[in-house]
Amino acid sequence: MPPVATDALVLHVFDYLETSRIVRLATRDFGVLSVLARGVRRSSSRFGSALDLFAEGAARIDLKAGRDLQTLSGFDVTTARPELALDMSRFTAASAVSECVQRMVSEDHAPEAFDVVRDALDALARSAPEHTVSAALASLWHLVATLGFAPALDVCALCHREIDDTDALAFSHVAGGVLCATCAARGAGARRLPQAAHRALAQWTVGEAGPALSVAEGRAHQRLLREFVGQHLTDARQMKAWAVWEQGNWG
Ligand SMILES: [Zn+2]
Repeated sequence: MPPVATDALVLHVFDYLETSRIVRLATRDFGVLSVLARGVRRSSSRFGSALDLFAEGAARIDLKAGRDLQTLSGFDVTTARPELALDMSRFTAASAVSECVQRMVSEDHAPEAFDVVRDALDALARSAPEHTVSAALASLWHLVATLGFAPALDVCALCHREIDDTDALAFSHVAGGVLCATCAARGAGARRLPQAAHRALAQWTVGEAGPALSVAEGRAHQRLLREFVGQHLTDARQMKAWAVWEQGNWG
């Protein structure tokens, strides 16, 4: 079979043996793949510096069914995004997005998920450092919705009663969305959801930029989203990059 060609984003890179690297790619057509880039660290490498973290390009991959590690035969970079490496708040936010993509996106989600991830990295690259948390939250909620995990926001996740904008709301990651006051009073484990946060979730899940957040609002939203995402992960490994992003304060 000839190599397949697909647009790809570099999500993670680590060295392998003397001269090679293993790269995790988000591809437009095949979901997330691990690929071996042979000889990439030689000065004469045909890959050049193309395989930098968060770069985007046209990848050629020798794709063999059933293999965990594919072979990368070429990568022509189209967007390098050096801005993401130059600022810690951008870098940690992009790393959290990347980790989330590696844990949640499969081949079934292509190509819609690819576009959301590419837009997420572009938004972070453009973002002022103090707005990266809002930008990443917007992108991650849009991604979650694109993957088919949108939370219930218009109706109560438990009794399905329509939510009134004046309701005192709670959010339950276990139930999968907002709870009306009655259900919130009955159930444990739900967090109070301010109206502004409810509105932000409604905007982010449909791909809108949403509001600029205060530091405290940003932290509350990071926690809410972490708990919600954790509910949909199929393994229990810790989200390490996410933890760094959430702890961060580089302002
Ligand atoms: Zn209810």
